[in-house]
Amino acid sequence: MATNRTFTMIKPDAVENGHIGGILNMITEGGFKIVSLKLTQLTVADAQKFYAVHSERPFYGELVAFMSRGPIVAAILEKDNAVEDFRTLIGATNPADAAEGTIRKKYAKSIGENAVHGSDSDENAAIEGAFHFAGREQF
Ligand code: ATP
Ligand code: MG
Repeated sequence: MATNRTFTMIKPDAVENGHIGGILNMITEGGFKIVSLKLTQLTVADAQKFYAVHSERPFYGELVAFMSRGPIVAAILEKDNAVEDFRTLIGATNPADAAEGTIRKKYAKSIGENAVHGSDSDENAAIEGAFHFAGREQF
């Protein structure tokens, strides 16, 4: 079952700019079923932990401040080959490199403020989803 699920966040920039509906529409049109969904906000500590893998990178402080500055939409999504297919749907980290038809091509402004997160492995998808949603919130 885990291999059919991924985790996403609509990041603070996209929420601020009114793109929740547009992005959720691209997600469902892309064949993903919404298993869990909520508007929430990362604390600074949450964002530090979420992106701990980047803690030595020069942009880490900026990334943590960005991700905790306002509400996000957290969601668990289901589809065959979910992790890989969702990474394809969101496009490259830098929107300048993102393919036509991807979420980042349409909604991301910069490599730092790039509208949406997608898990990079089945293992991380399960960890990230479980951080935000109890079992009874997963449909
Ligand atoms: P995410 O993990 O958010 O889905 P990603 O997997 O495409 O993004 P990562 O390499 O994991 O990319 O980087 C995590 C996030 O850190 C990026 O989405 C972006 O917000 C930020 N980031 C990455 N590289 C840079 C950079 N060179 N300058 C500023 N911010 C960056
Ligand atoms: Mg990543």
